[in-house]
Amino acid sequence: MARAAGLDTHYHHPLVSRRQQPWHAALSSSLASDSAVQEAPRPAGDPRPPRCGVPDPPDGLSARNRQKRFVLSGGHWEKTDLTYRILRFPWQLVREQVRKTMAKALQVWSEVTPLTFTEVHEGRADIMIDFTRYWHGDNLPFDGPGGILAHAFFPKTHREGDVHFDYDETWTIGDNQGTDLLQVAAHEFGHVLGLQHTTAAKALMSPFYTFRYPLSLSPDDRRGIQHLYGRPRLAPTSHAPALGPQGAIDTNEIAPLEPETPPDACEASFDAVSTIRGELFFFKAGFVWRLRGGRLQPGYPALASRHWQGLPSPVDAAFEDAQGHIWFFQGAQYWVYDGEKPVLGPAPLSELGLVETPVHAALVWGSEKNKIYFFRGGDYWRFHPSTQRVDSPVPRRATDWRGVPPEIDAAFQDADGYAYFLRGHLYWKFDPVKVKVLEGFPRLVGPDFFGCAEPANTFH
Ligand SMILES: [Zn+2]
Ligand SMILES: [Zn+2]
Repeated sequence: MARAAGLDTHYHHPLVSRRQQPWHAALSSSLASDSAVQEAPRPAGDPRPPRCGVPDPPDGLSARNRQKRFVLSGGHWEKTDLTYRILRFPWQLVREQVRKTMAKALQVWSEVTPLTFTEVHEGRADIMIDFTRYWHGDNLPFDGPGGILAHAFFPKTHREGDVHFDYDETWTIGDNQGTDLLQVAAHEFGHVLGLQHTTAAKALMSPFYTFRYPLSLSPDDRRGIQHLYGRPRLAPTSHAPALGPQGAIDTNEIAPLEPETPPDACEASFDAVSTIRGELFFFKAGFVWRLRGGRLQPGYPALASRHWQGLPSPVDAAFEDAQGHIWFFQGAQYWVYDGEKPVLGPAPLSELGLVETPVHAALVWGSEKNKIYFFRGGDYWRFHPSTQRVDSPVPRRATDWRGVPPEIDAAFQDADGYAYFLRGHLYWKFDPVKVKVLEGFPRLVGPDFFGCAEPANTFH
């Protein structure tokens, strides 16, 4: 594997590695996974697929990292406003082009974090970019055309911030005639910021060079960098609702004078969650997040009123019944929509036989979608859509739902029949066969549903 990866044998001598590269331990013989090899481009006749010269993590990319996720170098910058300087340039490219490319490569990281990058033209910068050949003073010599393309040094090491490109590569921008500087630079900046190589599919931090446009972070890359630096300071905001696919509905709506800002899904305790038309809708403070196949859809979060005119904000609970009617609850009232068309409401909850209000969560349960439960505090009621009433105004104790906490904010059923109960930032997954909460729960809503960075104490 090591030879297939095209690493200079120098990197594989454990003693040399330990002595000369204090920022990483000896490389194990199980370095890198088979999948990583397969992903590597293999130009015909070239025994060395082009790759990054930063050694893979000491535990190898297959053993401990079987889960295929981002790997941290162990260090990160203590500040978020960083400077960079380009010392020498590749001969093939116009300087201004190189400048723009470096800025663009840094931008993929600054877009998803609070980090900022400012170019300086003299003196010491945090990130020092250079184009060098063969031996160049850091015990990691380059190898001429092909093979190792570049390397960079992790934060908190003796050369932190240094990024070296092999001057002997055929550097190009935006075409696959040579080695694309944008791809390689963005990858190296990932190292400079504290990320190791990963085996996650299509990640920018894969050790192997792939020509892939447009340049973008994989979810794994994004989670990795946000684990180190957090999310951008300003929430991506007002443009989202405007991009909503339901634009036609807006025409009757009075636009708010100030663009409203949706809450951060990573910080939110959701008001209600419901599976509607096979997609998952999370509600919070008048906004809705729409997930299809586990992915947040473009244009979301958006104002919930874009879909459901007249919908109160916030909602306490929501569910879709077997006929496709969507029910919303707030306080002592409820609303019903046929898809997006209002058909009823506001109507008093007492019509449904409910005297105790509000409802905190509503769950559609069972493969026929015919069991509907309302939750409030540690109590629950069964609702019968046929009679449009709860079977008794006297609640049952929610302890029947083994493992579910007494106070919940939201509940829904997924396509596989599992129920989910949310409270605050946590959720519990409920097994319909064993009729109890699955082991390993509660888990965090943000990382599991919205790709948010996990708190440090759950990371390993
Ligand atoms: Zn690398
Ligand atoms: Zn170097």
